[in-house]
Amino acid sequence: MIRFVDHDRYHSMKATGKLPSPKGVAFSIIKLLQRDDFRVPELVRLVQSDPAIAGRLLKFANAAAFGRTRPIVSLQRAIVALGSFKVRDLVIGLSVMHSNKSGQCSAFDYGAFWGHSLATAIACQELAHFAQISSEDIFTIGLLCRVGELAMASLYPDEYAGVLLAVQDMQQDLVDLERQRFDMDHRQLSATMLAEWGLPEMLIQAAYHHEQPDVAGFPDGSRLQTLTQSLNFARSLAEVCMADEEARWSLLPGLLTRAARLGISGDVLNDMVDRMVRRWREWGAMLQVRTQEVPPFAEILAASPPSRRVSSATPEQSGKGASPRLHVQLIGIPPAELPALVQQIESLGHRPVLIDGSVEGLRQALRQPAQIVIADMAMPGLQPAAFCRALRQTAAGKESYALLLASPESEGHILEAIDAGADDVLVKPLTMQTLRVRLNTATRMLLLREEIQRERRGIMRSTDEFAVAHKRLLQDALTDTLTQLPNRRHGLDFLASEWAFAQANALPMACLLIDIDHFKRINDSYGHAAGDAVLRQLADLLKRTSRGEDLVFRYGGEEFAAVLPNASARAAVQIAERTRALVEKYDFLWKHQSLPLTVSIGVANLSGSEKDSQALIQAADAALYAAKNAGRNRVVVAS
Ligand code: GH3
Ligand code: MG
Ligand code: MG
Repeated sequence: MIRFVDHDRYHSMKATGKLPSPKGVAFSIIKLLQRDDFRVPELVRLVQSDPAIAGRLLKFANAAAFGRTRPIVSLQRAIVALGSFKVRDLVIGLSVMHSNKSGQCSAFDYGAFWGHSLATAIACQELAHFAQISSEDIFTIGLLCRVGELAMASLYPDEYAGVLLAVQDMQQDLVDLERQRFDMDHRQLSATMLAEWGLPEMLIQAAYHHEQPDVAGFPDGSRLQTLTQSLNFARSLAEVCMADEEARWSLLPGLLTRAARLGISGDVLNDMVDRMVRRWREWGAMLQVRTQEVPPFAEILAASPPSRRVSSATPEQSGKGASPRLHVQLIGIPPAELPALVQQIESLGHRPVLIDGSVEGLRQALRQPAQIVIADMAMPGLQPAAFCRALRQTAAGKESYALLLASPESEGHILEAIDAGADDVLVKPLTMQTLRVRLNTATRMLLLREEIQRERRGIMRSTDEFAVAHKRLLQDALTDTLTQLPNRRHGLDFLASEWAFAQANALPMACLLIDIDHFKRINDSYGHAAGDAVLRQLADLLKRTSRGEDLVFRYGGEEFAAVLPNASARAAVQIAERTRALVEKYDFLWKHQSLPLTVSIGVANLSGSEKDSQALIQAADAALYAAKNAGRNRVVVAS
């Protein structure tokens, strides 16, 4: 599906030496990992040779960890915990960033590019568990998903500057223009570079398609689709972080819609964004990448849309059909003309507010512009064009309807004022008729603006509801309804990914199968409801007493399973034995009556010779069977 850049062309681009590429240690690491016989100690030595990279990796291994409870202090452990290939990809990302902090393309803002890319990377990490991918992998792809743009700017600095300006000024599509001018686009170039550096196929797919996740055609609910959508969301969150206050407001609906599709909303979203911003600032300081302050997300959401001022019209006037009573600022109107103007405005049902043309008066008007601003072009304090520009610089001022009054001799400046942002200019003397028409136009415009804002708020509400529903669905799909533990599907997925991780890094791990002894008797003696209550209580007990990194899930019926990452054979037996003893002593209650209960447990440790994670479960099952045969209420380890 990806259209990579033609092989020969890519190689001639590389030959120019202008293509961004991993340097130094990163380059050596790529080479090392291309060898089949590479060994982790060699990788550790390489990373150690660059203390800056070593320090960042350590910080990374600790920051990125989901559910890891003990801090990682040695580089060796950090590399093992991250996995060699993730280390390689991270180092590539950091290296490309460090050697491309500035460049020749005048219209390419290198600082903003990396600020945005770092924000995307950190946001991606926050999304790692939604995207069901390791937070290191997703960090790297967040950092590098736009690398094709950087490469275009490096390869063709002048021509690409022209393209960027055309995109900005004429709102043209970047990909279209790139194809016209260069016969390739930045997405193709990104994918080609990432493939050359050896990044995993899935990440390359996501990077290639993330700008338009919906046209990629990935199956609904697939990991690839979720990953691509996560990247798309991370990127729009990065845009919000880099935007100024004004631009932020217009980015919100898109951001919320994307979040909703991932099932993220409400406080979870607020907390996630705030945490992401904090980490972005922290990492930005460490990596010398541009960041900026961003208010708490709840505050951004609560900020009132500028047009709220329209609805502040007094209630008696804003009833159905009546045109709302608006505040009209009259600025710098010559005193002789004021009384007639005030009278006309009042007779149209609006409220005039007088402001003289002094510097202080103008300042006040700019600070709190009314819904309609009428200013005389001959006012002494300020040039009309400068006044309009200043007005349009504030959030409130952008929403005002600005009407300028010109004397016949100042007609020459009318175009200038319109250019500077005036909505309309009226040449004096004014008639009641023209003023009425203009004020009605102004009112309609303001109402229309408010309509748009209301619609936007509506979108936000419905995306919020959608997000809640989506999240519930997702949760339901992964949770066992009776016990609220992860269900079999979720548990086996987790087992498979932990198994792969342990295999790749030669780490220990274990799996327990826990089966209630003679459970049928409970159902038979006390009824099915009692059986259910016992299952729930046992589930709670198992969950409460498990270690932070373990996952306990309902395997089926009255059987539970526990995945114990990083547990040695000895630790696994201890945990199983402790669980068995706990259950034996525990008071399971049904209608104030205590029901005695015991469990049998089969333990299987990773031997390294299993062909998949299923083999581990099968071994635990065989051990469980042996425990039952040996008399129940005991732990047996698979041979
Ligand atoms: P053993 O010691 O050999 O494991 O005996 P057991 O009675 O526990 O095992 P068996 O497999 O014969 O029976 C399991 C019973 O668990 C049968 C089934 O009705 C009951 N069971 C399975 N799921 C549920 C459930 O969700 N609620 C209730 N109340 N009972 C369940
Ligand atoms: Mg059973
Ligand atoms: Mg049983």
